[in-house]
Amino acid sequence: MPIDPTLPYDDQNIFAKILRGEIPSKRVYEDEWAIAFHDINPQAEIHILVIPRGSYVSWDDFSAKASDEEIGGFIRAVGNVAREHDLVQPGYRLLANVGRHGGQEVPHLHIHLFGGQFLGPMIAR
Ligand code: AMP
Repeated sequence: MPIDPTLPYDDQNIFAKILRGEIPSKRVYEDEWAIAFHDINPQAEIHILVIPRGSYVSWDDFSAKASDEEIGGFIRAVGNVAREHDLVQPGYRLLANVGRHGGQEVPHLHIHLFGGQFLGPMIAR
C-alpha cells in the first residue's frame, strides 16, 4: 500500500528499525550519513537500498528539510556504494519512489540501486 509522503515521520517504520539494528538486514555499507543493505525482494542481480541516517519520509522531505551537509553526505554515500560494487563501468540505475504515483511503500527515504545486468527500459508501459 503506497504511503502518503506528506505525513509526519513514523519512527516505527521498517527502515528506522533496520537503522537502529532492531531487525536484521544484509548491510553492505555505512558511514556518518547513510547505510546501505540488500533489498529483501531483489528486482535485479544487484538491488541495494541506500538510506540516510536522518529521519526523512521521502525525497521530497529530505530535499526540503535536510541540511546541505546531510544532502552532500548522502549523495556521496550513494556514489560510494556503486563504486565499491564495481558498478561504474558496466553502469547502474538509481530510483527513488515518492508517494502514491511513485509506489513508495516504506516511509523512510531510500534510493534503490540496481545493477549487475542490463536493466531494460526506464519505465514499464
Ligand atoms: P518502495 O516501494 O520504493 O518503498 O520500496 C521498498 C523496498 O523495500 C521494496 O523493494 C522492498 O522489497 C524493500 N524492503 C521491505 N522490507 C525490507 C527489509 N526488511 N529489508 C530489506 N528490504 C526491504
